[in-house]
Amino acid sequence: MKRLVVLGAGESGVGTAILGKKEGYEVFVSDKGTITDHYKEVLRNFEIEWEEQQHTEDKILNADMVMKSPGIPDKVDLVQKLNGKEIPVISEIEFASKYTSAKIIGITGSNGKTTTTMLTHHVLKNGDLEISMAGNIGDSFAIQVAENDTPYYVLELSSFQLDGIIDFAPHIAVLTNITPDHLDRYEYKFENYIASKFRITMNQTEGDYFIYDADDEVIVHYLEKHPIRSKLLPFSLNKKVEEGAYIENENINITIDNNKFTMPTSNLALKGNHNVKNAMAAATVAQLLKIRKTTIRESMENFHGVEHRLEDVLKINNVQYINDSKATNVNATFYALDAMKSATVWIVGGVDKGNDYTELYPLVNEKVKAIICLGVDNSKIINAFGNCIDNIVETQSMKEAVKIAYKIAERNDNVLLSPACASFDLFKNYEERGREFKEAVREL
Ligand code: ADP
Repeated sequence: MKRLVVLGAGESGVGTAILGKKEGYEVFVSDKGTITDHYKEVLRNFEIEWEEQQHTEDKILNADMVMKSPGIPDKVDLVQKLNGKEIPVISEIEFASKYTSAKIIGITGSNGKTTTTMLTHHVLKNGDLEISMAGNIGDSFAIQVAENDTPYYVLELSSFQLDGIIDFAPHIAVLTNITPDHLDRYEYKFENYIASKFRITMNQTEGDYFIYDADDEVIVHYLEKHPIRSKLLPFSLNKKVEEGAYIENENINITIDNNKFTMPTSNLALKGNHNVKNAMAAATVAQLLKIRKTTIRESMENFHGVEHRLEDVLKINNVQYINDSKATNVNATFYALDAMKSATVWIVGGVDKGNDYTELYPLVNEKVKAIICLGVDNSKIINAFGNCIDNIVETQSMKEAVKIAYKIAERNDNVLLSPACASFDLFKNYEERGREFKEAVREL
């Protein structure tokens, strides 16, 4: 019997353990932290051996294969030891994909993964494909393969998931964009992070497809130097492409093998140029999979987005309050400001991961009337924008931030929470930050 060791007992770890057990492995789950009661019970029900608050090396270094949760960095001692013994250390995606013959649509990128994954799932489901969604969303890919396998999957893939693949090959790969993020896990080298994202194409062959943002210079440069085997289907906001998707006269145009699709961007339910890109990517997938064009159009018209992503909360005294708490980096905030059609009171701040705010200057000059800083240390924001915005206020709680925004905003303005920073100085996570914003707005 082959021994599978699972490091980390979260959603992906527990799912892998269950699938491993079903496929006849002797399975051991080890978590350095504590395991939630829910997952403990699941492991007990499946009679899977586990430990918490420790990694017992004797029970780990004898593995034939190790699945490592994405949160565990490669540099930790235990992983180094496994590498030294040449025991394969893989991700859940790699493991689960061995046990399904489903066609996989894999979606990665620095921003837009969740939105594009959910939109793609929405349109394919409406097109009556038997399709499931997994990756960083909802139930793990592994548990679905074990218990409810479907002929298609759309997977949201982080670079950490991609770092742990060996043979994984999506039939359709989507790369939404690449901007510096998570560099602490990539020796602070942007090129390592770029290479990690491109692993999504690593095992693709001529019959597969690669859909990507042709306006993203990082992606285009990489492709010039590193040709890939799958068929390229670029999408672009500002240049015509022969095969793929582009915008002309405010219409999305998609051409694949002389088959054309078109729809007005004004009919998209999701607002903002970034969402036009996400829609082009999702519609290209749908067209590749031969979904009816009316179904693609209708699905794009009735998908109203994901919580905490440029989410309209309320209009009070004709001021629109918008929750973009998921914007944890500058690029996401760039597109949020870009989407603002009128003067904006901007709530920003949190844990700065080495942000460079200069690319926001033109948008801030044009659209922002006041900045409300919401973070423990706001000095970087004040330094960055002090010269161009007169009205900068520091706050330490969401309630206070929203109250001040309410006082400053006038008819037809927006109040936008788009922090460009991580949340864990004042909040548990971005969801809590977004919920507190919405509560504070409702209490106005
Ligand atoms: P991810 O799963 O990659 O974090 P999300 O869909 O959750 O992506 O969006 C994260 C943030 O990025 C949100 O603030 C959202 O409005 C913004 N965003 C969504 N799509 C894009 C895109 N294509 N380019 C840049 N920012 C985007």
